[in-house]
Amino acid sequence: MRTGIFGGTFNPVHNGHVKLAEAYVSALHLDRLLIIPTNIPPHKTNTGLVDGMHRLAMCKLAFFNHPQIEVCDLELKRECKSYTVDTLEQLTQLYPNDQFYLIMGSDMFCSLTDWYCWQRIIQLAVICAGARQSNMTDLNMHEQCRKLETLGANCELVDFDPLPISSTMIREQIRKKEPIDGLIAPAVADYIQKHHLYQ
Ligand code: ATP
Repeated sequence: MRTGIFGGTFNPVHNGHVKLAEAYVSALHLDRLLIIPTNIPPHKTNTGLVDGMHRLAMCKLAFFNHPQIEVCDLELKRECKSYTVDTLEQLTQLYPNDQFYLIMGSDMFCSLTDWYCWQRIIQLAVICAGARQSNMTDLNMHEQCRKLETLGANCELVDFDPLPISSTMIREQIRKKEPIDGLIAPAVADYIQKHHLYQ
């Protein structure tokens, strides 16, 4: 099976994530895509991160009508920090016959060699990236792709037009009581309101 892995804080999940996930399922002909909310991301501070149980529930709502997309609590179940390499090792044990495609935005792709055990990561998965900002030049991405390939990685760049949305933007708009229509799925917006998140 061709299994995609898309990790993130998803704090909250937004339409930019959904568009990215849809683009990869189709471009890479994935049999399934695992959406994996992180526990405590190694590269982020913990401030403003809502409980994993809420982030998981919001992901399930955002992706409920995508049959090839599964929301996975594997990292949230681990007590410790979420390192991608540990997740990949765990998934390799669970699904030994799968080829893994690790999906990320261009910001993550360009800093991959700063990740913990990146050398093992590139052995365990094909590294897949799409542009994060529309003005991010293809040059940066292709340059990084070539660099990673000389280091032994297999990379796939997926061409798609990203939505200019971030979770930070959404948290900020909710805090300022500004509308978030069109930025997140209506069911996720209802969930946020019901649970008084990011107020
Ligand atoms: P925050 O604003 O809190 O930093 P975020 O919007 O970047 O959050 P994450 O959950 O950290 O969301 O992102 C997970 C992955 O999704 C990362 O690889 C990131 O590059 C990618 N991503 C986030 N937003 C978009 C978007 N609008 N378009 C394409 N990729 C995105």
